[in-house]
Amino acid sequence: MGESRFDRLFIGGEWVEPIDGGLRGSIDPATGEPWGEVAFGGKADIDRAVTAAREAFEGPWRKMPGWERAALLRKFADLYATKVEALAQIESRDNGRAIRESRGDIGLHAQYYHWFASLTDKLSGRTIPMDDSVHAFTSRLPAGVIGTITPWNVPLMAAAWKLGPALAAGCTVVLKPAEHTPASSLALGRIFEEAGFPPGVVNIVPGDGPVAGAHLVAHPGVDKIAFTGEGATAKTILKTGADTLKRFSFELGGKAPHIIFDDANIEQALNAATGSAWALCGQSCALGSRILVERSIYDRVVKEFRERASRVKVGMPLDPAIHMGPQAHQDQLDKTLSYIGIGRDEGADLVAGGSRIDNTDLQGGYFVEPTVFSNVVPNMRIAQEEIFGPVASIIPFEGEEEAVAIANGTPYGLAAGLWTNDVGRAHRVAAQIEAGIVWVNTYRYIRWSTPYGGFKTSGWGRENGLEALDSYLETRTTIVSTTGQFPDPFVG
Ligand code: NAD
Repeated sequence: MGESRFDRLFIGGEWVEPIDGGLRGSIDPATGEPWGEVAFGGKADIDRAVTAAREAFEGPWRKMPGWERAALLRKFADLYATKVEALAQIESRDNGRAIRESRGDIGLHAQYYHWFASLTDKLSGRTIPMDDSVHAFTSRLPAGVIGTITPWNVPLMAAAWKLGPALAAGCTVVLKPAEHTPASSLALGRIFEEAGFPPGVVNIVPGDGPVAGAHLVAHPGVDKIAFTGEGATAKTILKTGADTLKRFSFELGGKAPHIIFDDANIEQALNAATGSAWALCGQSCALGSRILVERSIYDRVVKEFRERASRVKVGMPLDPAIHMGPQAHQDQLDKTLSYIGIGRDEGADLVAGGSRIDNTDLQGGYFVEPTVFSNVVPNMRIAQEEIFGPVASIIPFEGEEEAVAIANGTPYGLAAGLWTNDVGRAHRVAAQIEAGIVWVNTYRYIRWSTPYGGFKTSGWGRENGLEALDSYLETRTTIVSTTGQFPDPFVG
């Protein structure tokens, strides 16, 4: 993908210069220096992207039979699969994620597109039994033009989770990636072009959230916003979009509990819990940032966490030997360091890490040590608020009831994990967890077919699985009289 251009927007099937934006250096978080120039669009660019998406929707795309859309999506998916390495390099460069993780994540995306491709010609409605005088049925229709707004931690994954179902449903899309990591999303444009998608079906416009993003949200030509990001941004988006009464789906933050009972296979639980505390440098919504540990095994787990933190190799993202790269941008670095300070002030015990890494090899980058706090009390801010950094808070509990109370005791409800070898307990506890996904004796295992989304403040709607299609479809009910008779209401 060396030929990928980041200095143009992808609108209406063309690579165009921004009208009211410009070029901006994208910062490599491993050095703090720009690594490439990226086109940023403004309001006028969003306007023309929405126009292109509307024309494509009213024109070829909506009328295209499902199986033809499927063929295009499959072609796109096959091309995508050949470009995993290039896309992984771009994304790791832009957001600092360890290349081994980017490869693993991006290596799965083609299958997301394939899976949604397989559904394009199966979007059938149903017949509603009524009485003999009518025939009633439903049809499922594409929702229209979708504005997709994605975050910086997993730009291509967030795009796949939205574009797969949106395109399968017959919608067209304007994709606005996050300011910090726009490059990999622009690279997608090349693949859509190569796959032969009609112009305007997918448009890609990087831009500032409060300008380009807000304009997309307020735009009367957009039927739905599919957003992944922070809850605070979602609240702003709701207000900005209120006048148009468009549809919204939100994938928001989390503070996932990872519960370890003393009857669990502790070794496996530790693999999952430490892995998920520090994956993506802590910058993922579903990571188990709160480790809830039964009192009888608490000291052992804390000791293991400390030991394993020392084994995490932090380094340059493109080095295949490293486990963890830098935080994705300066603000996130500042936020993580600030929360580490808060944890200390609140009286939690810092048992590993806690500092920025700024040695000769990693100078200027936004690197933070894998960090562990023990003796964390559930109402501490580090146990309540999303840090989005490599900070594990280990909280002791006694028994199932307390574990469930602590697990549910935050405003979030995205994901949870629990480890036990007691099958009854596994079901009992899982059934009480207020989260969109609960993993038992595993963690972070998700695929195209598994619905994903939040309870409480973690989101609205579901991505992936059959449920994902619902938010890109409208249902029309048609009721047809079988007699054509309609009595005159004003007789007699
Ligand atoms: P963010 O809310 O700061 O930004 C997300 C996107 O919103 C960006 O594209 C940004 O430009 C845009 N934006 C900002 N202000 C806007 C506005 N006023 N109007 C329209 N768009 C606007 O989030 P982030 O910091 O990029 O991402 C981190 C957050 O995303 C975390 O809270 C994380 O938990 C969440 N997240 C959730 C999931 C999930 O599936 N639930 C997945 C990944 C990330």
